[in-house]
Amino acid sequence: ILPVLAIVGRPNVGKSTLVNRIIGRREAVVEDKPGVTRDRVSYRAEWAGRDFTLVDTGGWEVDVAGMDAKVAEQAEIAIEEADAVIFVVDATVGPTDTDEQVVKLLRRSGKPVVLAANKVDSPTLEAEAAVLWGLGLGEPIGVSALHGRGTGDLLEAAMNVL
Ligand code: GDP
Ligand code: MG
Repeated sequence: ILPVLAIVGRPNVGKSTLVNRIIGRREAVVEDKPGVTRDRVSYRAEWAGRDFTLVDTGGWEVDVAGMDAKVAEQAEIAIEEADAVIFVVDATVGPTDTDEQVVKLLRRSGKPVVLAANKVDSPTLEAEAAVLWGLGLGEPIGVSALHGRGTGDLLEAAMNVL
């Protein structure tokens, strides 16, 4: 049984982009609960010689009004099933009420969390990442899932708590 690392966060923050970045070309669905949901998809992943299961959350369609509840519900299940969590926030948007809700779930779970400040595509955006210290989850690690910037540091931090 491999340790489970879940990627949690609001829609559009870049979770799936980060997953693709981590698994690269060796992408392989190991678990895709048929008929039940595509809300959580698991991949076999490897980083720095560590094998683990990477869980992408989301993929659900939801209206704006229902978003908070849906994100919270999906995040809660993923957190429950995980040994550690990467919580992804869009640093170019800043912390939203939905993000704050997920923070509460993470705190309650007691699971180790690494905070990814995504869409920090250049060093000039690190100031936006620093704002996320305010979430109270420790150091926000500025990353660009799209370009790969900072993802090594992020994964190293995640491996330290997984
Ligand atoms: P998810 O809904 O959280 O899985 O988000 P996606 O991975 O589908 O990404 C949502 C949008 O954000 C897509 O258009 C991505 O190309 C974009 N995106 C993801 N990561 C980054 C990033 O690091 N920088 C920028 N500029 N855009 C990103
Ligand atoms: Mg996605």
